This record gives sequence, structure tokens and C-alpha cells, in this order.
Amino acid sequence: MSGFATRAVHGPTIAAPGGAPGGAPGAKPGADPSGDPHGSLRPPVYDTVAFAFASAEDIAAAFAGRKAAHAYSRITNPTVTELERRVQALAGGQGVMALASGMAAISTTIMALAEAGANIVAARSLFGNTTSLLAHTLAPWGLEARFVDMNDQEAVTAAIDNHTRAVFCESITNPQLEVADIPALAALTRKRGVPLIIDNTAPTFYLCRAGELGADIEIISSTKYISGGGSTVGGLIIDHGTFPWARAPRMAKFAESFGPFAFLAALRREISRNIGACLAPHNAYLQTLGLETLALRVEKSCQNALDLAHYLRHQPKVAEVNYPGLTDNPFHLLADRQFSGRYGGILTFDLGERARCFACLNKLRLIKRATNINDNKTLAIHPASTIFAEFTRPELEVMGVGEGMIRISTGIEDPADLQQDLAQAIS
Ligand SMILES: *Cc1c(COP(=O)(O)O)cnc(C)c1O
Repeated sequence: MSGFATRAVHGPTIAAPGGAPGGAPGAKPGADPSGDPHGSLRPPVYDTVAFAFASAEDIAAAFAGRKAAHAYSRITNPTVTELERRVQALAGGQGVMALASGMAAISTTIMALAEAGANIVAARSLFGNTTSLLAHTLAPWGLEARFVDMNDQEAVTAAIDNHTRAVFCESITNPQLEVADIPALAALTRKRGVPLIIDNTAPTFYLCRAGELGADIEIISSTKYISGGGSTVGGLIIDHGTFPWARAPRMAKFAESFGPFAFLAALRREISRNIGACLAPHNAYLQTLGLETLALRVEKSCQNALDLAHYLRHQPKVAEVNYPGLTDNPFHLLADRQFSGRYGGILTFDLGERARCFACLNKLRLIKRATNINDNKTLAIHPASTIFAEFTRPELEVMGVGEGMIRISTGIEDPADLQQDLAQAIS
């Protein structure tokens, strides 16, 4: 197989034969960029809702799942399928579903696997909206969230019981930058027969091979690194084909018909179809373009993050710098083992109190005050007053989001310019 960057640019060289069962067909001649009738080097954008069939028998066969065909773009669309094939060629796994946002990917996955009376064991440090989804949105539906320290294996083990439907955590948490020991968690979840879901947004499958490390399901907010410069919101669900779905209570019915593809079939034929958070074809097109330059942009932003971390730690006004690339960071060795010698494009530093953070943010000239991460532009934010504003101080304490914390997401600019901007803002 060719290397990552080559596959990122060219996609899989052989069209997928039949696509995921019950779901998208493989690319047909004419829909496949390598067989485009005009020789187009970019995939076409199929901005359409529905697809016409040659006969009533054909459309009935498609609805019954006997024939792979696009019928309605909430379920599959050729431009979205192209993104899914291209992601699969890079991330591995047995199938990919692209959705409207990272949160759509997370909520759809949880709603597929869990039910009232069940529980999800989740990291106490998570992307704020994910915590909110579990603690505020799904709790009233009877799903219990058990928040634990994912680096405390005894706590994780103790939290899992017969009603646990998944263990959920992030490969590097944002903004705490705690690194999960994925192989250790996988050993534990496999023993208990529970799927391990890894939100791999921050390093992506370029730096962190979540499936090879033991994730059963990998989730990515493609809004971040993949969209290629913060162009569009999107999310990805990657099924690594390692979990025996017949053992998941809600998947048993689908496992009878679809065997190892039960989870993907359930998403396509019921859960995602009914929730309806589908990715727009135009956004899928932009994300496919973004995917082509993923390796270049990740390398550059990680180098910028490492440079800034080294710079900031020597500034007297900065109390603390948190970046797994610093050799004395508690997660450095784990990051080294799991992230291919890079440490991500996010770092945080501590200025002690909110007022000093606001003063610093207000003086920035080049670096943008914005939420989001992994844009081409470097972004800065005060997490406690923004992304985490809905949580109380004691809750924030538990989540490791301090009042004095500024988060930087490094872009791909020249490092000297970033350093200069931060220097004048801190002074
Ligand atoms: C941004 C983010 C999400 C949510 O993704 P959206 O595309 O904004 O819905 C989920 N997890 C992590 C780790 C994120 O950074």
C-alpha cells in the first residue's frame, strides 16, 4: 500500500466494491474521480436530494437493502461517500460514516449503542459539549453518565458494569491535554465486552492510529484538522471492525442480518437516518480537499506548538505551560509512544487569573480570538469563560479548566511572528 500522504492526495486507487452493507454503494464509473468521464481531478459535487431509478423493482430493491444505490441524500450521497472512502483509505477500519458535525458523530454513536437504564463510562475531562451531551441532554432520557479519570484504570474498571454500553474518551483531551493510554483501556474494555470509543479529533489518524492501538470506534470532528483551514463543520465515525456487535444489546438485531457490519448498518438504516444529522455534499467536497493536505498542515502546526511551548515556559509572567511535547510533561512518554513523535497543535498556559487572561487576549494582533482548533490560523481563547461557561467553578475544577488558562491552537504561520505577537500581548 502507498504511503499516507500519497493516499491522502489520490485516495484509494481501487474503488470500493460494494460499500457498507445497507448503505452507500461503491463508486460507480462516472462517480469515481479516477474514472470521471471528463477526467476531473476533483470529485463532483452532487447537490441533489434524491436519485432516480430505472424501474419500480429497482427502487424497491434499494429500499429493501438488496441493491446498493443512492436514493436520498439524508442517508447517502455520492460526494459524501467519496469523503468516507478517502477517510477509510487513511484511517483504516471496515467502514466510515461522515456526518454534519463532530457532535453529530458523537451523539449518533451514543444513541445507537445505549438506552434508558444503561450507562456510559466517560472521561471526566472531555470536550465541553460532549460532557454536556451526556450530563444534560441524554440524562433526562434515562442514560447515566459515569465520569471517571481515564488514567486511573481501577476507577474505569470499577465503573463498568453489565449496563455499560461503551467507554468513551479522547486520545488527547482538550484543553487539559491529558493523553489516554489507549492499549491499556482497550485491554480493559475487551475483557468486559464493552466497546471502546476514542474521540481522536486532536491528533487525527495521521498522528494517532487509534484503531491499531485498540479503539473499536474512532470519532473525529472533521471541523478541525481535516476541513483544511476551518472551512466547514463535519464529523466522522470510523468502525475499526474489532468489536463483536452481536454482544452489544442494541446491535443484536442488526448483527443477525449484517454480522460484523451491524453497527454501520444500524447507523445507516436506522439511527443516523432517523436523527438526520447528514453532511451536506458541498461540505463533504471541501473536507475531501482538506484531507489531501492533512499531513503537511499537522506537521507544521505541531512544530509551531512545540516552538511556542518552549518559548512560553521561559517567560516570567507565565506560571505554567501545558504541552505534551515538553519532556517534563507527565504525559510526554505516553504521547511519544502513541503520537508518532508529534504532540498536537494545542497548548495551554497559565496567567493566574481571568483578568490577566482577558488583558493578554485583547492585546493580540495576529493571533485571532476565536473558538475552534486546528485552523490554518493560530487561535487563542479563555476556555473557562467561553466553551466551559455553562459549568460551575467546582465542576471546572474537576474538569481541570482553570480561570487562569489560555488555550492556543497553533496554525501554520511563521513561528517568529507568533512568538512576537504573544510576547507583546503578555508584556
Ligand atoms: C470540536 C470537538 C468536538 C465537536 O465537534 P464539532 O464538529 O464542533 O461538532 C468533539 N470533540 C472534540 C475533541 C472536539 O475538539
